[in-house]
Amino acid sequence: MTHPSLLNPFHANQEPAKSFGRRAAPATRTTPVCSNCQSDDIIGHATVQWSNESQEWELASTFAQPAHCNHCNGQCDIMWLPRN
Ligand SMILES: [Zn+2]
Repeated sequence: MTHPSLLNPFHANQEPAKSFGRRAAPATRTTPVCSNCQSDDIIGHATVQWSNESQEWELASTFAQPAHCNHCNGQCDIMWLPRN
């Protein structure tokens, strides 16, 4: 199960974030921020799985866990902001 707030709504197909490393920058860049304080200093809990096809780590699960904001020092909801 993937926590819906960890998905990027600016991606049309709602595909979860896949790459944990090299990836070409998408045309529209977005950043997740804390819905309380707008800080982007947030942490997610996730497991990655190696993909033999793409030869990179892919996000396997986020355990439906809320994100953690280092600025609030607590759980937070994620908002996705466009970045230019
Ligand atoms: Zn915060």
